[in-house]
Formats: sequence, structure tokens, C-alpha cells
Amino acid sequence: MPSRARLKGRATQGRFSMAKRIGLYPGTFDPITNGHLDIIRRAVKLLDHLVIGVAINEAKGPLFPLDERVELVRHEVAQIAKDAGVTISVEPFDILLMHFAEKVHAQFIIRGLRAVSDFDYEFQMTSMNMALNREIEMVFLMAGGKYQAIASRLVKEIASLGGDISHFTSPYVAERIREKFTAQGVKFAASKVVPLKRNGTKPKPKS
Ligand code: ADP
Repeated sequence: MPSRARLKGRATQGRFSMAKRIGLYPGTFDPITNGHLDIIRRAVKLLDHLVIGVAINEAKGPLFPLDERVELVRHEVAQIAKDAGVTISVEPFDILLMHFAEKVHAQFIIRGLRAVSDFDYEFQMTSMNMALNREIEMVFLMAGGKYQAIASRLVKEIASLGGDISHFTSPYVAERIREKFTAQGVKFAASKVVPLKRNGTKPKPKS
């Protein structure tokens, strides 16, 4: 007969093997772009629960205050969670990343990699993070082809000059960005989107 202690050990092991896979995706999300969304869609395939950590990062002088960044991320990920059958929570944080990961019981930290410059930075951060907690694994997902060039900073730069940002964010986020810059006096050209006819073809230009 196995001892009580051994049985307890097995039960505990069993519980751990069925533990939820929890990942943390941290960032500034000022604001959330299609690049971030691509990483989130792919990350949830690996997880049961994703925590999106929105860094306060006042030093970066964000365009959107923290509560608006959190609200935009929540708005954008609601459908992804439903489609993937996982749970996603969005939480602000202003403590050391590893401490926040421990607090939310994440076993994985998800990061997106766009270019060599991202790699350099992440390489250094990973070594530092591993010195703090070796149990939490860093997981890097490569930016998908059409999302490689998207960075929140560039989206804001384009919008600040009245440029078209519709390819880089969802329509909801694009509208919120335009509102911010319109309030600062930026003029946006009228949308160039031509509504298609019912049969899906473009209307003939008027002569
Ligand atoms: P940004 O660098 O655009 O200001 P964040 O600080 O919010 O964005 O970045 C959070 C995480 O998302 C980082 O791991 C970053 O490398 C990743 N990320 C940002 N944009 C993209 C993208 N277009 N494709 C893949 N990963 C991205």
C-alpha cells in the first residue's frame, strides 16, 4: 500500500500536471496595434489564460493615459478570447516585470520580435530576468510578415502628421488616435475608402 505521503505527493503532482498554462504579455500598448494583436492571437494557442500587463511607463510620455490604454486593450481582445476559448485579463502594472509575473502566477512571459534591434534588447533583458527567476520562461514570437514594421511609436508619428493609420490598428483604435490628434489641431484627409457596389465591384469614376 502506498503511504499517505506518497499518495499526497502523487495528487500534488497530478494537480500540477493539470495546472493552467498562464502567460504574461507585457508592454506599453500606447496604443495597441495590429502587431500586438497578432502576437496575442498566436500566444493564446499556447495558453489557458493570458494576462496582458500594461506598463504605466510615464517616462515614455504616453499619448494615452494608463486607463485608456487598458480600456483599448480590453476592447480589442474580448473577441480573441471568445474565439480561442481562453481567458484574457488586462492589468496595469508599475512594478518589476518579474515580480508582476510572480504575482499573476505566470509560467511564461511572451514577447514579440520584430527586428534585430528588438532581439538585442530582449537578449539583454532575458539574461537579467533569468537571474531574477529561472522558473519563468521567456517565449518569443516573431512578428508576422505584414506586421514586422508596425510600432506604436511610428503609428503615432504618422497620425501626428495627419497620415492614414488604418492599416496599422483596428478601426476603433484608429478613431481614438485621430480624436487625440484632432484635439491638438491635426487635420486628417477624408477617408479614401471607396464603398464597393453590392456585387463587390468598384463604382465607375464619374466623368
Ligand atoms: P512598442 O514597441 O510598439 O511601443 P510595446 O512596448 O507595447 O510596443 O511592445 C510590447 C511587446 O510587443 C514587445 O515584445 C514588442 O516587441 C512587441 N511588439 C510590438 N509591436 C509588434 C509587432 N508589430 N509585431 C510583433 N511584436 C510586436
